[in-house]
Amino acid sequence: MKPSIYGLTRQQLLDWVLEQGEQKFRADQIWDWLYTKRVQRFEEMSNLSKALLERLEDAFILNPLKQRIVQESADGTVKYLFELPDGMLIETVLMRQHYGLSVCVTTQVGCNIGCTFCASGLIKKQRDLNAGEIVSQIMLVQKYFDDRGLGERVSHVVVMGIGEPFDNYKNVLNFLRTVNDDKGLAIGARHITVSTSGLAHKIKEFANEGIQVNLAVSLHAPNNDLRSSIMKINRAFPLEKLFEAIDYYIKTTNRRVTFEYIMLNQVNDGIEQAEELAALLKNIKKLSYVNLIPYNPVTEHDQYSRSPRERVMAFYDTLKKNGINCVIRQEHGTDIDAACGQLRSNTMKKDAAKAAVAQA
Ligand code: SAH
Ligand code: SF4
Repeated sequence: MKPSIYGLTRQQLLDWVLEQGEQKFRADQIWDWLYTKRVQRFEEMSNLSKALLERLEDAFILNPLKQRIVQESADGTVKYLFELPDGMLIETVLMRQHYGLSVCVTTQVGCNIGCTFCASGLIKKQRDLNAGEIVSQIMLVQKYFDDRGLGERVSHVVVMGIGEPFDNYKNVLNFLRTVNDDKGLAIGARHITVSTSGLAHKIKEFANEGIQVNLAVSLHAPNNDLRSSIMKINRAFPLEKLFEAIDYYIKTTNRRVTFEYIMLNQVNDGIEQAEELAALLKNIKKLSYVNLIPYNPVTEHDQYSRSPRERVMAFYDTLKKNGINCVIRQEHGTDIDAACGQLRSNTMKKDAAKAAVAQA
């Protein structure tokens, strides 16, 4: 199976071009065809020699993903189900925000972190996506808009789909470098957010990359007991270790960190937890903010329900009173399978049901 050319960073493409005995500017031309003109076939790269085109065709494919399902919601959210070359399914979500088009990408097939509230964690990790498969998600969403001819561009990226990005670190980093590249898609680093469940050692490594993208940490609880009970990753990286890494990140990058906090009714959403959270963040008040996220119910996790509005507001007010920056996240695509991992798991269930019928 040939790799996708989207998996190469600009530097890697340049290395490949030079290995072919071609001149440096050929790499710039190819990069421009891929990301500015966004051709769908190598043969459209009309300023390359026939020999170079043949070598490209021999070495690479363009898009490794097949579009299986597209669901469009009334608020403009679009959910894509893509099939990988080995038949596995992943999902990508496009959200229409007031500031532009934002795409949420998947980084792994399934996830091994196993958070107790998450649909993705229901399926053990089958494999990592390679960089080409992650970049292609952006390319296919962009194509969906290019085909309409309205000139809309994907302007924001959130790495918050299925998978733990820091458990697939190298591929995610190459993906970030490619979409951020100013000669290509040129999605600004400040418009890119990577979300992690809290792999402390990787947060430190990320701090040293010199890439200005935003970091979000899925916190969801203000103390070790509660956090370990809903996120088993907390046993490996308890809050002391996590915050040591976060402090390092803030010191090194001088950038703000976002904390994600899913509001689970009667689990983590009391005033007491809000006070505890405020205390936990008191030393980094100016360099952090909290995103309160409505829980998206997952059938298999029926021990959880969504916090009612009054509890969310009381929690929010308590944080604010303590000087913590805080927002309540707006929801997208509630009329489609919007929760992380849901379109995929629902489609897999339907596929499994179909297979069972076919077998009977
Ligand atoms: N693995 C990374 C990134 C993917 S999950 C992480 O955990 O941060 C992206 C975000 O969606 C995380 O904050 C996660 O906690 C949240 N999430 C998972 N399941 C959810 C659900 N059922 N409802 C709302 N948010 C959910
Ligand atoms: Fe994995 Fe993130 Fe879901 Fe946890 S919340 S299981 S880390 S995808």
